[in-house]
Amino acid sequence: MDSDVIVVGGGVVGLTTAVTLAERGLRVRVWSRDDVTATTSAVAGALWWPYRIEPAAEAGAWALASLRVYGELAADPERTGVRWVAGVHADTALDALGPWAREVPDLRQLAPEEVPGPYGAGLAARLPLIDMPVHLAWLRGRFEAAGGVFEQRAVTGFAEPAARARVVVDCTGLGARELVPDAGLLPVRGQLVLVENPGVEEWFTAADEGAGETTYFFPQPGRLVLGGTAEEGAERLDADPATAAAIVARCARVRPEIAGARILGHRVGLRPARAGGVRIEAVPLPDGGRLVHHYGHGGAGVTVAWGCAERAAELVGG
Ligand SMILES: Cc1cc2nc3c(=O)[nH]c(=O)nc-3n(C[C@H](O)[C@H](O)[C@H](O)COP(=O)(O)OP(=O)(O)OC[C@H]3O[C@@H](n4cnc5c(N)ncnc54)[C@H](O)[C@@H]3O)c2cc1C
Repeated sequence: MDSDVIVVGGGVVGLTTAVTLAERGLRVRVWSRDDVTATTSAVAGALWWPYRIEPAAEAGAWALASLRVYGELAADPERTGVRWVAGVHADTALDALGPWAREVPDLRQLAPEEVPGPYGAGLAARLPLIDMPVHLAWLRGRFEAAGGVFEQRAVTGFAEPAARARVVVDCTGLGARELVPDAGLLPVRGQLVLVENPGVEEWFTAADEGAGETTYFFPQPGRLVLGGTAEEGAERLDADPATAAAIVARCARVRPEIAGARILGHRVGLRPARAGGVRIEAVPLPDGGRLVHHYGHGGAGVTVAWGCAERAAELVGG
């Protein structure tokens, strides 16, 4: 066997796990059906914030562990794609959040008159904002620098990688629905619009966890990312023009200059939500090997990636 571990999946969860394992001295391969630029992870906005992820207590701890890592990565934003950016979470109350919120520096409750747009109270925060295409390319480079090998290849089951490595880590996101199979996985469709930035420097969200329509914008280098939607059970991957127009209109209620911004493109992704929440669990394989499942990160896979990778690495052992 020329590998200790094969990680199936090369989105943010697979790559972060692969980096963590390779930097512990293990010989690691990533097998990914898609190029990193074609994953759900590449679509994400991506703001650090636990949104649509379960179980709540574990997700809070994984998010805080990841916040510490993103804080360090933000020292080199051009390479890592991670920046600290200030912004506002509208319609959010500090005391309605989990205990994790007490550990986030600089979270501040705002009075209604301090919140832009037609919203009530809100929170001011300075959080990591991650430019995912840059970050995924950087993760892959860091993995390869640690001796890891990235291969674009699809599997139809886990026997194939199990024949090549003692431990297989399943980071296939929504792909686990067919591979495991796990009927608890549910796609939550998200649509985004990319526009030329008309001068917005802070991010904004009004994203009730239960709502199918959300309003948010994230300033990324070279574009402003507008959102969004959260359609449970929807699987269409093409952008809907009426939905896109509605997203622009909602964002323009907060920052009117967005209404006239030139559209650069559209993005659609399927969040891998799961009944019972994120699954990080080791199961034995028939020949004495081990399969570590690591999927189901819903709307916050970027937010929790490093904390979850630590947990998955504990289950890999070695
Ligand atoms: C519109 C939108 C906005 C979002 N915004 C945020 C945000 O602001 N903050 C945040 O934290 N999260 C956000 N998310 C959620 C985040 O994108 C996901 O939680 C995260 O990308 C899941 O990562 P993953 O690596 O598990 O899955 P994926 O990125 O889907 O990766 C799965 C990998 O498995 C591979 N794979 C699947 N099947 C097979 C197979 N049979 N053989 C081989 N390989 C296979 C794929 O090729 C891919 O490499 C957003 C999501 C969407 C859609």
